Amino acid sequence: MSAAESLAGAAPEPFWLQDPARPGAGPALPGALTCDLAVVGGGYSGLWTALLAKERDPSLDVVVLEAGRIGAAASGRNGGFCAASLTHGLENGLGRWPDDAHTLERLGWDNLRAIAETLTRHGIDAEWEPTGEMSVATEEWQVPALQEAAEKAYEHGWEPIMLGPEAVRAEVDSPTYLAGLWDRDAVAMVHPAKLAWGLADACRALGVRVFENTRVTALRPDARRLRLTAAAPPRRGDRAPRPLGAVTARSVALGTGAFPPILRRLRHYVVPVYDYALVTEPLTPAQRAAIGWRHRQGLGDSANQFHYYRLTADDRILWGGYDAVYHFGNGMRPGLERRPSTYATLARHFFATFPQLEGVRFTNAWGGVIDTCSRFCAFYGTAYDGRLAYAAGYTGLGVGATRFGADVMLDLLRVGLAPGEETERTRLAMVRSRPVPFPPEPLRYGVIELTRREIARADRNAGRRGLWLRTLDRMGLGFDS
Ligand SMILES: Cc1cc2nc3c(=O)[nH]c(=O)nc-3n(C[C@H](O)[C@H](O)[C@H](O)COP(=O)(O)OP(=O)(O)OC[C@H]3O[C@@H](n4cnc5c(N)ncnc54)[C@H](O)[C@@H]3O)c2cc1C
Repeated sequence: MSAAESLAGAAPEPFWLQDPARPGAGPALPGALTCDLAVVGGGYSGLWTALLAKERDPSLDVVVLEAGRIGAAASGRNGGFCAASLTHGLENGLGRWPDDAHTLERLGWDNLRAIAETLTRHGIDAEWEPTGEMSVATEEWQVPALQEAAEKAYEHGWEPIMLGPEAVRAEVDSPTYLAGLWDRDAVAMVHPAKLAWGLADACRALGVRVFENTRVTALRPDARRLRLTAAAPPRRGDRAPRPLGAVTARSVALGTGAFPPILRRLRHYVVPVYDYALVTEPLTPAQRAAIGWRHRQGLGDSANQFHYYRLTADDRILWGGYDAVYHFGNGMRPGLERRPSTYATLARHFFATFPQLEGVRFTNAWGGVIDTCSRFCAFYGTAYDGRLAYAAGYTGLGVGATRFGADVMLDLLRVGLAPGEETERTRLAMVRSRPVPFPPEPLRYGVIELTRREIARADRNAGRRGLWLRTLDRMGLGFDS
């Protein structure tokens, strides 16, 4: 069967969102209301913010406003790698904030542990599997890079194991593997949509009012409060969105990911980048035996254009990554979530990695949008005299880090803090600094496309980075997913 034939029956929907456990839509905003904290966005970022706010101060009146459905954007369609890293990997954190690197790693580890504890405390079944993640080298030039990564990890208290060609294939059998670096502690696998739905349930159980199909269309100060105007998505035949009402809040937290930000200044720092994934049918016991993978760890290869892949609870393989696509003018629309040419590339690479799985079919193929910023990890800030806080720019590693970002937003809004109290989080240089903004269009598109092409060229040239990438590296800039 060709790669194209293996994709023939694939539904263009995220596998995770098709789960029978998906709840029905919650209510939309019923009219005008007031609250202490209004959270915009019902992905992980917003849901963690609402949940942690209630845990810090149960007396707070908290409202979540979600434009569509809970977890239907990146949070319900990702790979489900929940990583401890708050900095898109140790190397990125070390390079940017060497003085804080140790603290950032410790806080990241605490954050991952707190996520696991939250799931237990609130009885959230999100198929949590603390398997760790194994990076694999599929080209000779990637082997020393893995060794170097292992040494840096040891220095910072992690204990990954380096595997040679035989040992890595004893873990997971691909003829393309030359070495592996298995970090057993720093990453867990999760069912992404169940995590989002479970967080929303936990919020409601603590008294948070969650409104779906409620898009915030405007934000303005109103005396000492902020006023958010909201509308429902237009129905067929409607000329414009239907007004729903307004929320007047003492504080606002923005967790709107890659979507056009209602705080205009964020437009300069975040670009929406499409990332795509496939899921296979459940593997038969014979197919499972043919690839090993007894420890079920998440896997990622080590090229600049990389694949990430993992097993689902029912032994399918989720296979994603490689292409990271930016559309002119921060382009975003539902049609861009489907990209047959990328699906075909991904399928070809899948069978090159696992030729033993010849004949396996894909049941789902989809895309989602990532909030990319030029430093690869989230940035934070406030507006309206500290009454609004935001966190954005997670760049493809937000499953775990959004919980930390939620805590930062609550620190910045001073939820549950004594007067004058600072936290370790808000003292971090990472929290106090901003990424370099992207240039305006048409330069933005040109620069991103050039960078993408140069990244692909480096992968073809044994990892050697050309002048353009070296210049960006020196400036601490880049493009990643
Ligand atoms: C295909 C794919 C694979 C990924 N794989 C991984 C992975 O394995 N590990 C990892 O760590 N990260 C991964 N990520 C990234 C991760 O999913 C994100 O970092 C994370 O979900 C971000 O959460 P969020 O809440 O900030 O954004 P989102 O989940 O995008 O939520 C933002 C929400 O805000 C809502 N919204 C926007 N504007 C408004 C408005 N005006 N009014 C009301 N609501 C609004 C949106 O409807 C949306 O629901 C992946 C992403 C994609 C797309």
